Amino acid sequence: MALTIYNTIARRKEAFAPLDEKRVRMYVCGPTVYDLAHIGNARPVVVFDVLFRLLRRLYGEQHVVYVRNITDIDDKIMAKAAASGEPIDSITRRTEDAFHADMGALGALRPTHEPRATETVPEMVAIIEELIRRGHAYEAEKHVLFNVPSMPNYGRLSGRNRDEMVAGARVDLAPYKRDPADFTLWKPSVADQPGWDSPWGRGRPGWHIECSAMSEKFLGFPFDLHGGGLDLIFPHHENEIAQSCCAHGADTFARYWMHNGYLVVNGEKMSKSLGNFFTVRELLEKGWPGEVIRLVLIGTHYRQPLDFTEDAMKQARTRLDRWYRACAHIAAVADAVPGDTGGDAEFEAALLDDLNTPLALSVLDRQATRVLNAMPVEIAPLASSFRANAGKLALLAQDPARWFQGTAPAEDVAEIEGLIAQRNAARKSRQFAEADRLRDLLKSKGVELEDGAGGTTWKRV
Ligand SMILES: [Zn+2]
Repeated sequence: MALTIYNTIARRKEAFAPLDEKRVRMYVCGPTVYDLAHIGNARPVVVFDVLFRLLRRLYGEQHVVYVRNITDIDDKIMAKAAASGEPIDSITRRTEDAFHADMGALGALRPTHEPRATETVPEMVAIIEELIRRGHAYEAEKHVLFNVPSMPNYGRLSGRNRDEMVAGARVDLAPYKRDPADFTLWKPSVADQPGWDSPWGRGRPGWHIECSAMSEKFLGFPFDLHGGGLDLIFPHHENEIAQSCCAHGADTFARYWMHNGYLVVNGEKMSKSLGNFFTVRELLEKGWPGEVIRLVLIGTHYRQPLDFTEDAMKQARTRLDRWYRACAHIAAVADAVPGDTGGDAEFEAALLDDLNTPLALSVLDRQATRVLNAMPVEIAPLASSFRANAGKLALLAQDPARWFQGTAPAEDVAEIEGLIAQRNAARKSRQFAEADRLRDLLKSKGVELEDGAGGTTWKRV
């Protein structure tokens, strides 16, 4: 069965066929590194991680090239540096490291290449020069602008008419613009701003040209698939298409465009002023396992709006608890589980149908039920398929015992295990009142004990 995806530019589901099966190429717009990633930033990272893993299974790990850029030159970064006094380099490297750590905690693989914008400026300048040469861009007052009316089919991806484009871009009607829809490719930098020498003086690139340059540098032109959030369709992706197609005198930049839906929190747009703004780091520090966050992010189909709520997190945790109980059951009763059998056809079919993760997750629910109800002799093949499916979504990778102990800080675990050792000593010397007191003390800390043949195990409740 072949992969089918909803192609935004075709406005329909299409069978995915790469230009070269030995080099399947995807690009996803990456972070602007000035602040910690919020939960909305994490959605495309996790969605396209599911796709990346699926493509690697379909075409082989060595045959999929995934590029996600790092935008490390931007006016927001410059503003933060000016306000805080921290040098730009320090802000961008620190934020980049935090991004990698946080997305790693959500189980996302690193892309094949993660170019930084500041390391790709010569390639951007080359594209801008070509656009000028072909009559699609012009220099005005040390700025270089893309001339939108020079591209007859501008607006194909978003389907916006001209008035909407101008309104949507919130264009400033700078006097040097030939057309209100024209957008910036290059802008001048004053002495204390970061800048690069160029044929138009010292300056810095606009945001859109970064992705045209970084995708072409690592994937060539054209390539297979471009992804990002719905909010990037216009103007960002529309402008990427304009730049790249016009620089090549070609019609197609990326052949498939995939966009994930919006993320809201408790039904409202996330914003710092509403107090419903969550960074991934805050959620992790509050003790939510990365796996719970990942499950919430893939629990809704990627094209649907996602309502991120505490309730959704609790439900995801309960669901994972049940799946991990199935894993513990497997470990307890099955002598040997056969290696990866490739999982379940129904599960894979769900993912192949435009990444239908909710349907795939319902297959895992059903499999967990079967595992939990299975007789020991019938569990091995069920277990193998269940685990293989979960692994395709980077779920259930932990030891079940560790999962139920939660993400307690190390010193917390040491204290709990110390109390358990004291209790065991009390039981051994038949001081049952003391043993019960210690059990109750642990219970008051949210720790439940289970005494079994192999000793005492514990979990958080
Ligand atoms: Zn981009």
